[in-house]
Amino acid sequence: MTRISKQLRKYFIFVTMLSIAFITIISNVSINLFFSGYIKESRGRDDLKVVQYVERVYGDDNELNSQSLMSIMHYALSEAVTVRIRDIQNNIIWSSGVSGSVQGMMGGNDRADNNLAYRNYSFKYKGNQIGSIDVGRPKSIISSIEDKQFLLSINAVFAVAFIFSILVAMISSSRISRRFLEPIYLIKENAMLIQDGKYKKLNEVRTNTFELYNLSKSVKELAERLEYQDTLRKRMTSDIAHELRTPLATVQSHIEAFMDGVWEASPEKLSIIHNEIFRLTKLIKDLSDLSIMESDEIKLNKSQFNLSISINNVIESFQLLFSEKNIHVQSGIQSDIELWGDADRLNQVFINLLSNAFKYTNRDGSVWISLEKQADVIRATVEDAGIGIPKEDIKHIFERFYRSDMSRNRGTGGTGIGLTITKAIIEAHDGRIRVESEEGKGTKVVIEFINIQGRV
Ligand code: ADP
Repeated sequence: MTRISKQLRKYFIFVTMLSIAFITIISNVSINLFFSGYIKESRGRDDLKVVQYVERVYGDDNELNSQSLMSIMHYALSEAVTVRIRDIQNNIIWSSGVSGSVQGMMGGNDRADNNLAYRNYSFKYKGNQIGSIDVGRPKSIISSIEDKQFLLSINAVFAVAFIFSILVAMISSSRISRRFLEPIYLIKENAMLIQDGKYKKLNEVRTNTFELYNLSKSVKELAERLEYQDTLRKRMTSDIAHELRTPLATVQSHIEAFMDGVWEASPEKLSIIHNEIFRLTKLIKDLSDLSIMESDEIKLNKSQFNLSISINNVIESFQLLFSEKNIHVQSGIQSDIELWGDADRLNQVFINLLSNAFKYTNRDGSVWISLEKQADVIRATVEDAGIGIPKEDIKHIFERFYRSDMSRNRGTGGTGIGLTITKAIIEAHDGRIRVESEEGKGTKVVIEFINIQGRV
């Protein structure tokens, strides 16, 4: 494992070195190509000047005497070229020698002739060719000391740029990595704080990097979620104790009153005890259902069944209850909607929803139940014109033991587990459930199953 800062530094230096090397190569090649083209051209012009000089000197005396040859020699030296004069038979009759040396004056061999490139020009006098002139220059295009110096200076500049860029790369890599790493370290620290359960102590991560901002936001949301789950878990024990205490206290006080002969065991009193025991049994069943759902043990006994009939039966079983509260029930159940699922569990879902609609709808209220299939979607809704759910509670109502204060105040005997189980069953069928509600107006629960491969 290598640290990001180290890796960034490596990449920065590598890219910088590569770019400078690339620029150096490109510059050298282009200097050789373009600059040498330019030099060739300008040397051609200079050569002509040499030829014209020789012709002029010849023209002065109408011959090449030692005086004129000396002038040509000086001129050749000053121009850093070698001049060879040939007669009309193309024999070399005179040479200025190696450029910059005096050998030619002595008529000695040009030791450095191999390094020279000669260009031949015709030697004319009064329009007639009387011989030819070779103008020799060093073969290397970048030949003069100035030229070489120029190339050296350019490459020295590149070398300085190279060192400077590497320094800049090192400094900027450490600055950039600090800019990215600081928030990452803070996010890592936050993750460790979450691990220790210190949700409230998370660091504020300031960054204008989109991805890091999102990462930090997700970690924060995760912390909030975990904190909430934590409080929920802690609350669960006290909630269970609370839920058990009330019915047990009622049962206990009634039985003690019977035993002390304070009360007669009348059918009404017995029915109160019976109701409380029924509530306890329901609570224990809900808890056991919930633990199955939450421990991923949920085993669905799936079959193809008629959901329309199932829902109609549930509505039927609630008719008496609804009529006792004079609640008007209206249903629109599309017939023969088949579903691939666990009929008992889904029955339980609609029992929960109708029981909520019943509990949270006032006398003389209304409840609507519908089931329809549109394209591949089977949609069931249970709507009531009941007390509704406060806006801030809606997002919590699927959590275990969650009951809005309004419903608690009504003494409905709810446990706050029904919707948790309902949601788990729907999701185990790859369905979706959502609640729309307005306080004082009513609640609508929508369930949707998407038909997958013809079998829902
Ligand atoms: P409970 O046994 O308390 O009804 P649920 O899990 O079924 O538990 O519901 C959780 C909470 O959601 C209820 O306590 C109630 O506050 C709210 N709720 C559910 N359904 C309705 C509804 N139809 N109208 C108003 N509030 C509802």
